Amino acid sequence: ASSQTSSPLCLQNVETLINSVEAFLFDCDGVIWKGGKLIEGVKETLEMLRSLGKKLVFVTNNSTKSRKQYAEKFHSLGITTVSEEEIFSSSYAAAMYLKVNDFPRDKKIYALGEGGILEELELAGFKGLLGGPEDGRKNIQLKANSRFEHDKDVGAVVVGDDQYINYYKLQYATLCIRENPGCLFIATNRDAVYTMFDSQEWPGAGCMVSAVCGSTQKEPIVVGKPSTFMMDFLLQKLQIDTSKMCMVGDRLDTDILFGKNAGCKTLLVLSGVTSLSDLQDPSNNIKPDYYASKVADILKFSRQ
Ligand code: PLP
Ligand code: CA
Repeated sequence: ASSQTSSPLCLQNVETLINSVEAFLFDCDGVIWKGGKLIEGVKETLEMLRSLGKKLVFVTNNSTKSRKQYAEKFHSLGITTVSEEEIFSSSYAAAMYLKVNDFPRDKKIYALGEGGILEELELAGFKGLLGGPEDGRKNIQLKANSRFEHDKDVGAVVVGDDQYINYYKLQYATLCIRENPGCLFIATNRDAVYTMFDSQEWPGAGCMVSAVCGSTQKEPIVVGKPSTFMMDFLLQKLQIDTSKMCMVGDRLDTDILFGKNAGCKTLLVLSGVTSLSDLQDPSNNIKPDYYASKVADILKFSRQ
């Protein structure tokens, strides 16, 4: 309810949290790291939670990498205990959505996005993958009365963040969706912006997805946070009651909403894109149970 208030983390509520929670779901950017830099105290906090037998899961809306690439990122930042199985990225969710919905193996998939999407689709066994970051670098040279052709066997378009987005890719995705009424339109996530290079905010996948919504007049199936697909998929893997889970994130309309919709406890950290004044703004009605300056506050207030 919008009237619910959020409490700052303290000794008492950290004790309650640790006693009642079996699995911690961590958002990545703004929580674990900021761009390429680990946030202070994360490693020690994760170690403490693991030593208490807590299950740890990492849920990221960034579709540009695969789970394997995320595991490598964790390891390169000194967190060597994280395994691929603990990572749920929106690129993986897109591949799993198609898999659990029995997407026909003889159909092709067009990805308007970066390598993470293609890698996860390939790992899931899909063939006939088109698109990706390199697509359409060449100029479109159309003459009068000539037509831009697309592959008619495309049965799904997956849109994620793409730093190399161009007009050709937008036309390709648009044709696939407009000319085949059965073509699935999947969005990895709709984050408005994200923090690139540790500081400035740049357009997120929400920008690319909205471009395709604009040209097709269709709405996508969203598979990343806050979608129920991502949560249901995760719950099926974890087999833990959501009342025994805590979602830790830095964004209200993805992470905190994701956790709240499922009945998880929620902790907002102010180390990412949301400030205390954003949380307290009267127009905000997404209220986490708790908030803290950063993940390391869990360690600071624990009695370990
Ligand atoms: N989308 C893109 C393209 C990103 O690069 C990022 C963060 O780096 C995000 C989304 C947000 O990711 P997360 O859900 O881990 O905060
Ligand atoms: Ca985040």
